[in-house]
Amino acid sequence: MTISYPRPAGAENREAREEWLVTQNGKKPISQVIRERLITTGTPFYANDSIAEFISDAEREELKREIEAKLQSLFESMIIDTTNDHNTQETPHRVAKMYVDEVFKGRYHPMPKITDFPNAKELDEIYTLGPISVRSACSHHLVPIVGQAWVGILPSDRVIGISKFNRIVDWVLSRPHIQEEAAVMVADIIENLIQPKGLAFVIKAQHMCMTWRGVKEPETKMVNSIVRGLFRADPHMKKEFFDMIRGQGFND
Ligand SMILES: [Zn+2]
Repeated sequence: MTISYPRPAGAENREAREEWLVTQNGKKPISQVIRERLITTGTPFYANDSIAEFISDAEREELKREIEAKLQSLFESMIIDTTNDHNTQETPHRVAKMYVDEVFKGRYHPMPKITDFPNAKELDEIYTLGPISVRSACSHHLVPIVGQAWVGILPSDRVIGISKFNRIVDWVLSRPHIQEEAAVMVADIIENLIQPKGLAFVIKAQHMCMTWRGVKEPETKMVNSIVRGLFRADPHMKKEFFDMIRGQGFND
């Protein structure tokens, strides 16, 4: 029995990609334009850095087209027939969009707007938030890191809405990362925004580069914590923080 497939629905897109490549002939790729801007201003552009403020909305669209064309070449090098394989025809397009607008949006899109307020009631008790979903990818293999995070704050004279912690975590973690550096980045942003008297941040996550490949160890999770200010100076406060987040699903 012969199975006949319909004409690939994404053929026009593949042709569009090829046409786009022709128009690029002799033109500086947008990635190079942006890279030169970063180098000129001495801005680092490691995998876990945000470069959003150096990219306009139009350039971001152009960048997706460039990434899509490069992904098409990757599929060709992997000898996958994207012309006839209905499953992968649109994959370069989908993955480029997924990288720039979704899973790595923390590199290419600006931080969500976060307004801080005066601590009008002069709250001076610890509060904790969690679990906050952690979704990231490891810088080494670009495979998912999935887990949870908890924040503890001993407020000073500024506060932010509690959902903003989730937004900060989502934005920072939506980049290729290693977990320890991600935790420091989140803590730094919170510290800059509200200068709390005490700040604690814990991530517990599973790294697919250990479960899906490599040692293929399904249960191992990595936990790391940042404690600053009074949470670091005062062991009782640190203990209170960990006791509180145990009530919010954290177990170490
Ligand atoms: Zn990895």
